[in-house]
Amino acid sequence: LEIEPSDLWRILKASGIKYVKFIVIDINGAPRSEIVPIDMAKDLFIDGMPFDASSIPSYSTVNKSDFIAYVDPRAVYVEYWQDGKVADVFTMVSDIANKPSLLDPRRILNDTLEQAKSKGYNFLMGVEVEFFVVKEDGGKPVFADSGIYFDGWNTTAQSQFMKELITAIAKAGINYTKIHHEVAPSQYEVNIGAIDPLRLADQMIYFKIMAKDMAKKYGLIATFMPKPFWGVNGSGAHTHISVWRNGENLFLSNTGKITEECGYAISSILGNARALSSFVAPLVNSYKRLVPHYEAPTRIVWGYANRSAMVRIPQYKMRINRIEYRHPDPSMNPYLAFAAMIKTILRGFEERREPPSPTEDVAYELVNTLETPTTLEDALKELSKSFLFSEFPSDLMNAYLRAKQNEWEDYLTRVGPWERTWNVITD
Ligand code: GLU
Ligand code: MG
Ligand code: MG
Repeated sequence: LEIEPSDLWRILKASGIKYVKFIVIDINGAPRSEIVPIDMAKDLFIDGMPFDASSIPSYSTVNKSDFIAYVDPRAVYVEYWQDGKVADVFTMVSDIANKPSLLDPRRILNDTLEQAKSKGYNFLMGVEVEFFVVKEDGGKPVFADSGIYFDGWNTTAQSQFMKELITAIAKAGINYTKIHHEVAPSQYEVNIGAIDPLRLADQMIYFKIMAKDMAKKYGLIATFMPKPFWGVNGSGAHTHISVWRNGENLFLSNTGKITEECGYAISSILGNARALSSFVAPLVNSYKRLVPHYEAPTRIVWGYANRSAMVRIPQYKMRINRIEYRHPDPSMNPYLAFAAMIKTILRGFEERREPPSPTEDVAYELVNTLETPTTLEDALKELSKSFLFSEFPSDLMNAYLRAKQNEWEDYLTRVGPWERTWNVITD
């Protein structure tokens, strides 16, 4: 049942909310926001919130800068970890003529889900968000604990912070299922389980806002950088996907083997993985995670219990109900990345290609298999050649490619600390 924005305002006001934070998502998936006192927010719930779209990439240019953000009543979260007086509402953006903006990542994911629905498919997705909780030392991030995978001693520097964090996540209505210490020192993982992909993207962003804000209280920094430290695991954002038709999970199997539809989905994901990389591993730094021996994929293969494969099929006593795509990292714009995954799977259902056989070997050691792109530049080249490029609105794709290419060029031309160290050899 959808609630009207004006009713939502009344409910928030009645429940003691003092401020409303209107969130607009930019092309990188980062939240941008304006805070308005609840009484002044009333009209904005009905008429929309005006903002300067030329200052938020990549909505518009300076000469056409007036845009409007409309509250999405499905996407309201209260900042309970603070004093509980601020309600954060995600919005959908339109231009001044009230035409929906096709540069709004939330709109893109929303439209992609509608498109899937019109073909009879519903998607459920979940995500494992890995992240580091670090300290700062001389302007540099350093480990805040020496914890290990599933650390059970309860003595890690952040254990109090983590307890508070999970309490806050649950209270905010995030569909979280569990939390544990990950393989690297200072690394954690929170799982958000199977929900509507638009809500999942909102909740992933909201979780990041929350974790960063709460960590500060403890003098810690929560970072979602894919590979903050060389020599230990990076942080992934493995995405779990099931597809439903007429109320039935097309990936459900009790035989320990994947269904036909699941195979078509896997085959399309692997076939388009090099282009998908631009969305699911969008930073220069993402490619420093995608190297051998750290449980991140470097080869475009799939398998069952194989955590070196790009797509893994989680199983529980022969029961399969989803696929796990291990390529994404937590720096992705989840709206665009999820939309790209959905479009890729829908294409798989049309093409009906059987997947290659599953890989049982450690994928890092394989030869003659296609590789994950090794740089952002590599991935961007694949995107421009891919079917995905024309599946999205062209303004959006041009803006995304331009932004990412600029990032790559900036990285290439800057002089960094590694070069200074290496230069000792000849200096
Ligand atoms: N941290 C690994 C990655 O970068 C994943 C570890 C795991 O399987 O949970 O994807
Ligand atoms: Mg993990
Ligand atoms: Mg996983």
